[in-house]
This record gives sequence, C-alpha cells and structure tokens, in this order.
Amino acid sequence: MALLRDRLPICDQPTAALDACTEHRLFAQIRRHASARGRKYQVTETSGGGPGLQAGEESGPRTGWPGEAGAPHNESCLPIIARLVKFANMRTAYKVRVYPTEQQAAVLTRTFGCVRLVWNKVLAWRHARYHQEGLKTSYAETDRYLTELKRDPEFAFLYQVSSVPLQQTLRHQYTAFVNFFAGRARYPRFKSRHGRQSATYTRSAFRWRDGRLYLAKMDGPLRLVWSWPDVDPATLTPTTVTISRDGDGRWYASLAVDTDTEPEPMSATGRAVGVDLGVKDFAVTSDGERIPNPRHLERKLRNLARYQRRTARRQRGSANREKAKAKVAAAHRKVRNARRDFLHKTTTRLVRDHDVIAIEDLNVRGMVRNRRLARAISDCAWGEFRTLLEYKCERYGRRLVVIDRWHPTSKTCSACGHLLAELSLSTRHWTCPSCGTRHDRDVNAAKNILAAGRAVSACGADVRHSGSSRVRSAVKQEAQPVRAGIPRL
Ligand SMILES: [Zn+2]
Repeated sequence: MALLRDRLPICDQPTAALDACTEHRLFAQIRRHASARGRKYQVTETSGGGPGLQAGEESGPRTGWPGEAGAPHNESCLPIIARLVKFANMRTAYKVRVYPTEQQAAVLTRTFGCVRLVWNKVLAWRHARYHQEGLKTSYAETDRYLTELKRDPEFAFLYQVSSVPLQQTLRHQYTAFVNFFAGRARYPRFKSRHGRQSATYTRSAFRWRDGRLYLAKMDGPLRLVWSWPDVDPATLTPTTVTISRDGDGRWYASLAVDTDTEPEPMSATGRAVGVDLGVKDFAVTSDGERIPNPRHLERKLRNLARYQRRTARRQRGSANREKAKAKVAAAHRKVRNARRDFLHKTTTRLVRDHDVIAIEDLNVRGMVRNRRLARAISDCAWGEFRTLLEYKCERYGRRLVVIDRWHPTSKTCSACGHLLAELSLSTRHWTCPSCGTRHDRDVNAAKNILAAGRAVSACGADVRHSGSSRVRSAVKQEAQPVRAGIPRL
C-alpha cells in the first residue's frame, strides 16, 4: 500500500473533496496500476443502488469506468474510490501439485469434459451467429445459451458437475474475445480432448479450510503438496482455484490469493544497466557481462525432438503412441521448467542489483515469423523475460525503461556517438572510425540501450506501462528503419 499511496497522493483527501476531474485522474491511475499487475477492476451497480465493486477474474464483463462513456459519473461514484484503493493490492498465485483419489480424478475429468463441451458449443454458436446472421454475441447471451443447453435432455449430464467451472469458461471465452478484438491475441480456438485440461472454481464452489481444499461435488479434501515453507497455507484466503491436468497426467491447483501487504521496495543500489538480448548469448549487459543460454536447456530440447520423432513413427491410436506422447509432454514440461527457472534467476538478479534497467522493445512476434530465427528466438523466451522484468520491477520499486525498437543501438559508437552506415550481422567486433574505440558488438549495443534509457528517464516519460506506440515518442526517431524484424545475431 505504501507503494501505491506514493503514486496516488490524492487518495489522502476526503472523498467528498474530489471533483470529477480528480476522480477521473485517480481512476486512470488505478487502472494503469492494475493493468501493470495484470489485474482488472470493475465497477458494477449493486442491489443497494450505489455502485459496488468486485476485483479480478470473478468480475466477468466490465460495465465501465466512471468518466468513460456509458459509465455512471456522478456524486454516487465517489465513495467507491476508497474501496478501489483498498482493492488495489497484490495478487499472487500459488501453484501446487495435487494428487486426487481415483474417485476425485473421475469427478475432475468429467468436469473438464463438460467445461470443454461448453466452451466448444458456445464458440461454435458464436461463430455461426456471426457468419450467418452477422450478429455479435454478448456475455449475457452466452449465459442464456448455457441455460438452454442444460435444459436439453441430451446434455443433462452437465448437471452432474459443479456449475461454477462452466460459468467460468464463459467468462474466459469472453476475455479471449476481448483480447482478440483488441489485437492482443489470436481467434479463440476449440479445445481438444488431448493436452492440458483445466477448470476454474470461484469462492462459491470451493472451501479452503486450514490449508485443505474442498471442491464442489467432491466428498473429501484434495491431497496437495505445499512447497512454500515460509508461507502458512492456513492463513491464505484464495479467491479462485484452477485445477489443471497436464498432457503428461500431472495434476495441479493454482490458487489466486489477494494480499494487502506490499513487499518492501528494495534499497537503492545507485546502479543502472542496459541489456541487449541476443541469440548466441541470451543477454549481454552494458557492464560487459555475458549471460549465455543455459546448456541444460539445449540438451532437454534435443531430448524433446527425439521423443517427437519417436511419436511420429508410432501408429495412430495405438497404446505405444499414447506412451510416446506422454514422454513428449514430460519433455515439454522439463524444457518449460528449465527455461522458467533460468528466466526467474536472471531477472531476479538484474532487478536486485540495479535501480534502472533498460531493455529494447523487440518485436518478438514479428521475429518469430522469420523462419530461420524462429526456433532460436522462441527458445530464448524474450517475451517472458520482459514480462518477468516488468512485474519484478513494479513489485520491488525498480524502474524498467523500454527503448524504441528502431533505435540503431548496434551501429552507434557508445563512446562518441558516431553512426555507422552499415554493420553486417556477422561482425562481432568493430573499431570506431571517428574516435578509434574498439567495440564488442553486443556490449556496445547494451551501452547504447543504457544511454537511451537514461535519456528517457531524464525526460520523465513513463514507458513502463505503455505499449510500443507510446514508447516510440520517448526516443528520437532515426531516419533509416533498421532492417525490420531482424535481430542482431
Ligand atoms: Zn567513436
């Protein structure tokens, strides 16, 4: 909360003193704060007539923000501000392995099946409505469709499972479409019987008592293994629980928890760093440190490829193919875990040791489209690297500066600012014709990223919460667009 209040000085005023303009600004700030943490806030009309508020995934479709078109904007909005601020806290998730009994596994598998059926049915219905009648489907309409579906004797089995996960899948699909229309995601796809399965339960469908998890339509608690020795599970109050089963048959429960306590911002180090991401080395810092791609990841990737080839040779539908598929899923999990572990360690170290971290805004999606580089780049998981940096900087009070992707960081001399006309991708070292400094290509780029980051920090533009469009304005545009989408190798 301390962190939040620093940025929202107007919160200390009595709410009645807030005028519409202040209120508008406050909401904008909270919204930005919330979205930086991947959280959503909603303002709804409660039965009492005044606006009420719900946080997070439970809220479903948003009815609008005060000050936005279609949203209530009057005196009655004001009391909710205090409550909004109260809700603007941390959301963390704990993912644990669970070991369901045979009976519990059967209930969960049936639930997954029903969730999948509802998702696919609603998606198909939405699709057909749009293409045949040109109609857009609202959340409320999908909700009515689900009610109809349950009335159909053919789908009476939907009553055998908890209704909450079915409802939640409608919300997930609604979010998927919002993301699709906003250009953030691809068109929602049908869910397959194979691969990862999941079902989300909200508060009305589970009980969390003394660290034990009881799900609706289940007799006993789910056995789970708690892996945080310094966190007492009995003190937590999860808001949602997502049960999932991976392709290799492992079960997990993901508990979303809201906490009021902000972690203390880390003490200042007085250091800033520029990070140049690459393929040969994962990252090179402006201090000259090279962070290589982890070897064990490469080895695991080779294993994965071998298992995939093996699966392809097995006959479809055979038991051996199923066994081979489980191996592939396990290999995928190992790669994923190894990569995540590496990214967490790298980002934590960067955040702990520096006050300001400057990185380049890389168009990961555009680059992955470049076939030759696709594999190497996807493996590097630059996108996840940035996501982790963003949330860790936010959490520990560090500053992340994202530099314009067209800034010629490789071709500029970090010592004198001389700009080379051409620098081929294969050139690892070069000497500046103007000042004679000998440069390592990647370290020079990292130094330029740091310099650009400092310039952005100095002019006060806050690029942390913004997309690439706003970042661009913060750095001077160079005339020539460096070959689009091709990273330095
Ligand atoms: Zn120079």
